[in-house]
Amino acid sequence: MGLLQDRYVIVTGAASPRGLGKATAKLFADHGATVAILDLDAGAAEDAARDLGDGHVGLAANVTDQAACRAAVEDLIGRWGRIDVLVNNAGITQPLKIMDIAPENYDAVLDVNLRGTLYMSQAVIPAMRDQKSGSIVNLSSVSAQRGGGIFGGPHYSAAKAGVLGLTKAMARELAPDNVRVNAICPGFIATDITAGKLTDEMRASVLAGIPMGRAGEASDVAGCCLFLASDLAAYCTGTEVDVNGGSLIH
Ligand code: NAD
Repeated sequence: MGLLQDRYVIVTGAASPRGLGKATAKLFADHGATVAILDLDAGAAEDAARDLGDGHVGLAANVTDQAACRAAVEDLIGRWGRIDVLVNNAGITQPLKIMDIAPENYDAVLDVNLRGTLYMSQAVIPAMRDQKSGSIVNLSSVSAQRGGGIFGGPHYSAAKAGVLGLTKAMARELAPDNVRVNAICPGFIATDITAGKLTDEMRASVLAGIPMGRAGEASDVAGCCLFLASDLAAYCTGTEVDVNGGSLIH
């Protein structure tokens, strides 16, 4: 039997074909979950949901829009009656230096990564509290822990560090209701978030800093999401789990 048999799951930003969200959604579906993929474009979200098999849902939702987050969750509760797992995966990054961060760069990166995590969590928390069960998994980054140095600029490090603080504070507040909240800090994973923007030189220097000597695979992160989402992690809350090939051993 799958680790998420009969569980109802939302994964944000999971339409990107080679992304961490899509790999996570697929693994969850393979473990018996019914999955909703939320992303900016309805057609892309629907296509991604179809790839998972029958019965999964694709919806358009911009996670920076609180009303859109609430509407998507209301739609899903109408269909399913409950939400067991939320994976806050939607994210963007920009390779900027500190003095090049303009107000619009700050807003874009903080809004998707941090505000979006808050808004989606707020949308599912009432149902999880009523159920007295739930698991929220937030995608932070090794950039939060080591101050960037891979691809994203300081505003990305700050946003992902904010995600860690939010994760721990939500974990503390929601623990009495048996709602667990954990974060994953991936290292360098080959997806479209850096596609076409990473020079050979940047890639070689990143790889040189990874003891395991390879970039991560989306499936490496998906496996960790599955653990945290499932009852295997029943006593884990407020944790930050490193998935980085040893690039930050601390
Ligand atoms: P990706 O670019 O492949 O996918 C990101 C998805 O988020 C896209 O489908 C995009 O449409 C969606 N998205 C963007 N803005 C959105 C919004 N406002 N509302 C809803 N959806 C939105 O990225 P990925 O590499 O799969 O990254 C997934 C998560 O993991 C991100 O939070 C990222 O910061 C984090 N992360 C990635 C790496 C890496 O090396 N790939 C490392 C550390 C952390």
